[in-house]
Amino acid sequence: MSGTAALRALPAVDQMLKVPAVMVLIERHGRLVVTEELRQVLGDIRAAVRSGGAFPGEQGVVASLLGRLDHRERSNLRPLFNLTGTVLHTNLGRALLAEEAIAAAVDAMREAAALEFDLETGRRGERDSHLRQLLCELTGAEDATIVNNNAAAVLIALSTVGAGRQAIVSRGELIEIGGAFRMPDIMERAGVDLVEVGTTNRTHAKDYLGAIRPETALILKVHTSNYRIEGFTAEVPGAELAAIAHNAGVVLLNDLGSGTLVDLSGYGLGREPTVREAVAEGADLVTFSGDKLLGGPQAGFIVGRKDLIAAINRNPMKRALRVDKIRIAAMAATLKLYRDPDRLAARLPTLRMLSRPQAEIRQRAVRLAPQVAELLAPGGYRVEVCDCSSQIGSGALPVDTIPSAGLRIAAASGGALANLVALFRALPRPILGRLQDGAMILDLRCLSDEADFLKSLSEGTDHAVA
Ligand SMILES: *Cc1c(COP(=O)(O)O)cnc(C)c1O
Repeated sequence: MSGTAALRALPAVDQMLKVPAVMVLIERHGRLVVTEELRQVLGDIRAAVRSGGAFPGEQGVVASLLGRLDHRERSNLRPLFNLTGTVLHTNLGRALLAEEAIAAAVDAMREAAALEFDLETGRRGERDSHLRQLLCELTGAEDATIVNNNAAAVLIALSTVGAGRQAIVSRGELIEIGGAFRMPDIMERAGVDLVEVGTTNRTHAKDYLGAIRPETALILKVHTSNYRIEGFTAEVPGAELAAIAHNAGVVLLNDLGSGTLVDLSGYGLGREPTVREAVAEGADLVTFSGDKLLGGPQAGFIVGRKDLIAAINRNPMKRALRVDKIRIAAMAATLKLYRDPDRLAARLPTLRMLSRPQAEIRQRAVRLAPQVAELLAPGGYRVEVCDCSSQIGSGALPVDTIPSAGLRIAAASGGALANLVALFRALPRPILGRLQDGAMILDLRCLSDEADFLKSLSEGTDHAVA
């Protein structure tokens, strides 16, 4: 066939739309999308034929169409296997919710709910009311409010208490959390004048005392959640800081960051200050995250003195930072789990994963290694069981690691390792590990379903590795 004859023999879009296999695709994806993609496929084929290529046949057209439609459907936000060893990974969405929280969120999504309506009196209600009682019960605070995240909690607390006045902060606590969250910048946006005291490694009571003036509105204490200053250091304990603040008639705001409602040392982890302790020490306001160690959806909490919480709730920012009914429902269900500490680790995924013993994870690695090795062998990869270290992530216990276990995948070359990383990322359900010493480590602490994992891996390796 001459070039022009081959071009003329190509099927038209309308003709292809009547092919049964394409009609099935129309049922699934809609005529508009299929027509659009079909035009692209036929255009590409026409260009290939023009430069001497062969027509791949009707089946070839359908195969290309299927590939394009699949790619289009696939979301970048699809579920993945977090085998990085970082349990609360900010870039991977932090805490996984408990089944109770998921069910509550689904109900809230599907039906109307009395979000701001009091069913007893028939009057207008308050959205925070669904969480206030629980938060007070779990932290010992007088009152509580909830906003979009902890960054928002710090912002609105500072703005409410300190706008147009001064806040004293230790130089050792002027943190950057990542992205655009730097404490000095947040203070500026809240309209608060920052007064730095002490030095990077040592701040004393006299430093705070010497900085207090009539313009001082608050002392801000910030939990150095993502780094630790070690060696020749000094900081003023929370209780002493509270006494200094109260003697001077100013507010102590303690930003705990992650914050935890339970003592983690009971679960074989290091100690993080609990919210209850921060409240008991005398902080007037304590801020913390909902989706870090607490294990709920994204949210920020402010607990503390009733008059201050009321003032925060009157701040017009509150409306801009408020939380929707889906997250309130999920959060209430999450907090309720804390009422039963005995079953908490079994029901709250964050705690379940963090407290999973190394021996149990190693057993899982031993079970999976032969099957993973078999799947990856055609690509020349070697798989072995290894010990590794997990970390909590999201700025909790930053220097602590948790003994864990997993699979170490070694490749014949750097190029082959890069191919494997790319292949894992392109899976229908991607697998994310971490690269270490020229190999890929899959930390199995956060794997919940072994069969799912093997299925996903075999789907990807079917065609790609071999
Ligand atoms: C994580 C953190 C924040 C920010 O909390 P988000 O919930 O991520 O907004 C603020 N302060 C400290 C100390 C933190 O650790």
